[in-house]
Amino acid sequence: MQFCDECGSMMHTEGDAWVCRSCENETLRDSQAEAAMTTRDGQRDDGAPAVADATDDPAETTREPCPAEGCDSDRASSEMMPKPGGSYEVRLSTCVECGHTWRGS
Ligand SMILES: [Zn+2]
Ligand SMILES: [Zn+2]
Repeated sequence: MQFCDECGSMMHTEGDAWVCRSCENETLRDSQAEAAMTTRDGQRDDGAPAVADATDDPAETTREPCPAEGCDSDRASSEMMPKPGGSYEVRLSTCVECGHTWRGS
């Protein structure tokens, strides 16, 4: 979305330029900004970031053995999750190694 520097009207794209239909002002599209937008939109969301976030901040992890088969990690991040439909919370632990999530005590 781009607005005209001259009159403030909404501009329209024509090829690689923004064109104002009110005063016929034209500006070249900022290709860098467009590229940044494309990158942000194209970012993949594969569900892994939760684990990466936990490892970024060691203070958030606690010493807990991972119950997942074949994983011998003993560090997990934990967060309080509101129980669906309930008023109290449950603690969810997430293994920093394999991302396995389980309900803590
Ligand atoms: Zn204009
Ligand atoms: Zn694990």
